[in-house]
Amino acid sequence: MKPLRCLTDLPVDGFEQLATDWGQRPFAGRNLRRWVYERRSHHFSEMTDLSGKFRGQLSEATVVRSLGIHSRREDDGGTTAFLLQLDDGQRVETVLIPEGDRNTVCVSTQVGCAVACVFCASGMKGLRRNLRAGEIVEQVMLVQESLPETERVTNVVVMGIGEPTMNFAALCQALETWNHPDGLGLGARRITISTVGYPNKIDQLASLGKEFGLAVSLHAPRQDLREQLLPGAGKVPLPDLLAAARRYYQKTHRRVTFEYVLLDGINAFARDAEQLCQLLRGFPCFVNLIPMNPVDGLPYRRPPAEMVNAFRNILEQSGIEVTQRKTRGDGIAAACGQLRLREEDAEATEVG
Ligand code: SF4
Repeated sequence: MKPLRCLTDLPVDGFEQLATDWGQRPFAGRNLRRWVYERRSHHFSEMTDLSGKFRGQLSEATVVRSLGIHSRREDDGGTTAFLLQLDDGQRVETVLIPEGDRNTVCVSTQVGCAVACVFCASGMKGLRRNLRAGEIVEQVMLVQESLPETERVTNVVVMGIGEPTMNFAALCQALETWNHPDGLGLGARRITISTVGYPNKIDQLASLGKEFGLAVSLHAPRQDLREQLLPGAGKVPLPDLLAAARRYYQKTHRRVTFEYVLLDGINAFARDAEQLCQLLRGFPCFVNLIPMNPVDGLPYRRPPAEMVNAFRNILEQSGIEVTQRKTRGDGIAAACGQLRLREEDAEATEVG
């Protein structure tokens, strides 16, 4: 058996096998899983229905959890950015976004990102490493534990640092653990994966046979502009991307959301909105407009409110359903990956 870094790295159906590999009965594995995901225990010493021998084996070989909270920042609306400490010293971000009766957690899948979208803090220093499945799973557990007893994480969006489909095996395992009744038991319809949209990966997500939401980062209505804005993904021909999104809809019956970051002077003109209407004509989808969250060191700005409204009106008049992300979290550096970069830069300055 591969050395096990942490129990949350196990597939949710792997606990019985772990127990039998160590000479225990399968029910001991089931009990162990309950301690991890139902009772949310952090310590083997609390797992009193496991034999002393099994607890000893476990504590010699592994740990229950591997993520810690390095720091957190909260804005007036309750949006909270957590900077999480990984066991090798790296850090990633997770954001809690409370809205009405929803508590949505935005999770990361990689340390850094290779796609290098020009407007994104996460891509600025490239990809350092993939997160393990447990590191992805635990982000939701940590946020849950930061909420008052009466509240629950209701939704997960895989939209934080990293391109999830570039860490595909760990992503799929995390999806399974969140969704499985013996894991966190979150309904598939409450989990959304956001991707820059590699068609073969979209097809693989569709073949999971679950009703996970899919959000595709489009950000441009034309191939040339998309290539400029998303250097690591813009070469995918737009017709191929849209065809894959359509297949996803046909297979899962979930309408796909197209994400569109509005960048002043770049992609927020009326003609861009009109081209977007042409591109998405007849497609059963939503468009989520995201006025740019300013990022330190990047020249991109949010367009004025009138331009955002005009862009939205053009889409709506052509029958496209539009949502608009609230501009929140600027004060806590909630733009993807920015908190991590600010902390790293601050530490480099202190050391230097
Ligand atoms: S927007 Fe997403 S895909 Fe693009 S660089 Fe940032 S994390 Fe990567």
